[in-house]
Amino acid sequence: MTVADRVVAYIGLGANIGEPRRQLQAALQEIGALPKTRITKTSGFYRSAPVGHLDQPEFLNAVAELDTELSPGALLENLQEIEKSHGRERPFAGAPRTLDLDLLLYGNETIASARLTVPHPRMHERAFVLKPLLELDSVISVPGKGLANTFLSACSSQKIERID
Ligand code: AMP
Repeated sequence: MTVADRVVAYIGLGANIGEPRRQLQAALQEIGALPKTRITKTSGFYRSAPVGHLDQPEFLNAVAELDTELSPGALLENLQEIEKSHGRERPFAGAPRTLDLDLLLYGNETIASARLTVPHPRMHERAFVLKPLLELDSVISVPGKGLANTFLSACSSQKIERID
């Protein structure tokens, strides 16, 4: 395996039912234990108002930076296994969830397959992704879109606060 096969990927984590803090902490440990993968940075935890389906509890969100040799598809599969192990169900789009893991960025790649869209298609419209992501890298770019920090002002109506 050469150094060129290693990729920096970013994962968005969210939870709003059960014990969100515990679920995010457990998920971070499980992501860090995936094969050929280590977590290089983790953002703080953010409390955010729901977006889309509004009648549900507020979310706890974070973003993790990974160094991985997994392919994007293998990484997504592993993330979905972790979601499932935390009792994740998909009754309807935007439903409350015990754990949501999104593959936000995979190096500078853009991917559009039936199963996977990278960059995550809505990440640049969501303060709960942008704030923790920018905490990890203030000059990060979203391939095909531009600098992540240029999108934050358009999200100013979304309620979000960093918690300790
Ligand atoms: P959700 O219920 O919002 O977590 O969406 C999960 C679905 O989105 C799955 O069927 C995935 O295959 C698909 N998907 C597409 N792109 C991504 C991505 N970048 N990260 C996570 N899930 C994705």
